[in-house]
Amino acid sequence: MKLRFLGGTGTVTGSRYLLSDEKHRMLVDCGMYQGVKTLRRRNWAKFPVDPGTINAVVLTHGHIDHTGYLPALVKNGFKGKIYCTKATHELCKVLLPDAGYLQEEDAKYAYRKKFSKHEHPEPLFTEKDAWEALKHFESLHYHEPFEPVKGFEVTFTPAGHILGSSCVHVHHKSHERTVVFSGDVGRQNDLIMRPPEPIDKADVLVCESTYGDRAHGEVDPETELEEIIKRTAGRGGIVLVPAFAVGRAQMLLYVVHKLMSEKRIPKLPVYLNSPMAIKATEIFCKHHKEHKLNASQCELIDDKTEFVRTVEQSIELDSVRYPCIIISASGMASGGRVLHHLKTLLPNPRNSIVFAGFQAPGTRGDALVNGADSVKIHGEYWPVKADIYNLDSMSAHGDYNEILEWLEQGSLKPEKVYVTHGEMVASDVMRKRITEKFGWDAEVPELFEEVEV
Ligand SMILES: [Zn+2]
Repeated sequence: MKLRFLGGTGTVTGSRYLLSDEKHRMLVDCGMYQGVKTLRRRNWAKFPVDPGTINAVVLTHGHIDHTGYLPALVKNGFKGKIYCTKATHELCKVLLPDAGYLQEEDAKYAYRKKFSKHEHPEPLFTEKDAWEALKHFESLHYHEPFEPVKGFEVTFTPAGHILGSSCVHVHHKSHERTVVFSGDVGRQNDLIMRPPEPIDKADVLVCESTYGDRAHGEVDPETELEEIIKRTAGRGGIVLVPAFAVGRAQMLLYVVHKLMSEKRIPKLPVYLNSPMAIKATEIFCKHHKEHKLNASQCELIDDKTEFVRTVEQSIELDSVRYPCIIISASGMASGGRVLHHLKTLLPNPRNSIVFAGFQAPGTRGDALVNGADSVKIHGEYWPVKADIYNLDSMSAHGDYNEILEWLEQGSLKPEKVYVTHGEMVASDVMRKRITEKFGWDAEVPELFEEVEV
């Protein structure tokens, strides 16, 4: 069996891993690249293998950096099925059409404002392409083995990162080899997600390393947020949280309402301004057996949040000047409605912008948390006067300590570990830590490298 790294190496985005034997090809994840332009440009490059020759795709979870290229893959000739967990399927029904819509809107906006180098900027794929890709989906339960491609038996186990997230175990029947893809690995003590299930068997492990060189520290995210909200509301400002629509938005809503019901922060209006995050919250509440919040905690989120659905409501919210909390997507401020709020709120020192997770290099989020004094939005520069915070403690990714702890919980003895899904340094530090702690042979693969597994 061969494994080829078609993405997700040296960066946290564009996860795509190709497994093949003599006869078949199976792709694990089919992500879009995000962040710096050289990475985003890769989305437009010809797919390194003919999509028509791939027999099936298996997904670890719904996030766009793991699924966002699917509509383009189908558009370019992929004919097979796309397998994932039930919740991942539901999330993809929201995420992929939205991604297509945003691509179309961005292309139109760039055309209108003439800030694209191309005379007629084209979307990578459209909303219609996304719906086309969704026709290929088939969903399964955790721990339910299936055979997406002849000879490859696949099982999903919970990865604790977001709703529906999984580690993908691939057992090749005739080669008698097992390759496990960690996907994105959650926290040992997340506020809303249960910890990732330990892995017991893998000949080869492909492991993520988003926080391979960083620890989240001992800070309690609730206390951190409590202080920021109190301080900002005290000076009459607005707290804006650019949040990943799936996962962190739900956690933030839960924490904010919990802080209010415990009277740790003043009662403020809480707005969720992202149609995608609203739908993701509904899906999250529907699947409450898969996470830590019970039905009444989900109800609290539902009852006490103002859901901002229409464009008109969003514009109206942008003129609000009283203290409130606005949660809006996207999480790295790379697109979506949050951009309009940033243009309004960034230039005023009364306000606070709170990022709640990893900011890929090259994104506006990354620029802001690294102290940029202005950021470009819709072709214009906007001064940064508001307070900027980055709450790593709210991340949906385990840090290196948590990942090592998780690896230790299983009875793993892999022959080889490939460290992926991390910036260059993070992956390399993770590689060293895995070898030092367990004595396992670990390596950071190069983009397009093919290895025998
Ligand atoms: Zn993810």
